Amino acid sequence: MSDSNQFKLAGIMGMPVFQSRSPIIHNYWIKKHNIKGAYGHFPVQIDNVETAIRGLSALGLAGCNITQPHKLMAMKMMDELTPLAKRIGAINCIVVQPDGSLHGFNNDGFGYIQSLKDVTPAWRADAGPITVIGAGGAARAVVISLLDQGATEIRLINRTRAKAEELAAADPTVVKTYDWSERNAALEGAAMLVNTTNQGMYGQPPLEITLDALPKTAMVSDLIYIPLETPLLAAAKARGHVTSNGLGMLLNQAIPAFEAWFGVKPEITDELRKAVLATF
Ligand code: NAP
Repeated sequence: MSDSNQFKLAGIMGMPVFQSRSPIIHNYWIKKHNIKGAYGHFPVQIDNVETAIRGLSALGLAGCNITQPHKLMAMKMMDELTPLAKRIGAINCIVVQPDGSLHGFNNDGFGYIQSLKDVTPAWRADAGPITVIGAGGAARAVVISLLDQGATEIRLINRTRAKAEELAAADPTVVKTYDWSERNAALEGAAMLVNTTNQGMYGQPPLEITLDALPKTAMVSDLIYIPLETPLLAAAKARGHVTSNGLGMLLNQAIPAFEAWFGVKPEITDELRKAVLATF
């Protein structure tokens, strides 16, 4: 039974985990809404994930976010998964139910789509072909969400093509795979380009791609948020494209998790953006 006077605790479980900005986001909202609660970093070694997840309910936690490398193990332990989490094949959020059972959610896709709409409110997935680079965990959430939003053509390109083909099986009529060497040509006529790889992230080389074939009307989106402007986004801006970085996805995916744990739908304010940006 939930009690409005109860101190509510949530956090992010992973290893490493202290680089995560999620505590800044959730603790900002906890304070803003005068909630009795806290959100922390839970550094858990891989060997202890099972014990830690079983302990969520016993410790009275509201739930937690899950980050790599614990996502797969966590998913296997859920009593229930949302249909979306099943289709994406990963969870990033656990909500402990009043009876102690564990429900697994994936809010990354919601966060991604909302981040595009924050930049361009009239954004539509069916505006034209969408070229997606990468087929890792984040790409799964992005591609499944673009399909759910009504995308009519997704050109999926990954360095390891077999992984792209696995993801394309979600809807082979819409998602077509191409070789890594075809990534520049796959920009022709596209309405959007999305980088879901780690290329361009702090410490990584830039994504090797040439934007010449991309129509100037196309939006260019990068899931990376450190740095906020990747070399890809800088090149896109220089050509006059509308761009979207990964900070919006990070902030937006936190909204449904916070609402599920703390019972209030929070908002992304300029003050919150500034608080997160101050840590970069
Ligand atoms: P992941 O599962 O490890 O996937 C990594 C992807 O990058 C794969 O497609 C991989 O291709 C590709 N890649 C790695 N090295 C490459 C290289 N040298 N050349 C070309 N492609 C390369 O990682 P993830 O969880 O999907 O995360 C990917 C990115 O998304 C990261 O930068 C992460 O920070 C970002 N992200 C952002 C948010 C957000 O909230 N904004 C959320 C999740 C992730 P192969 O399959 O060939 O290895």
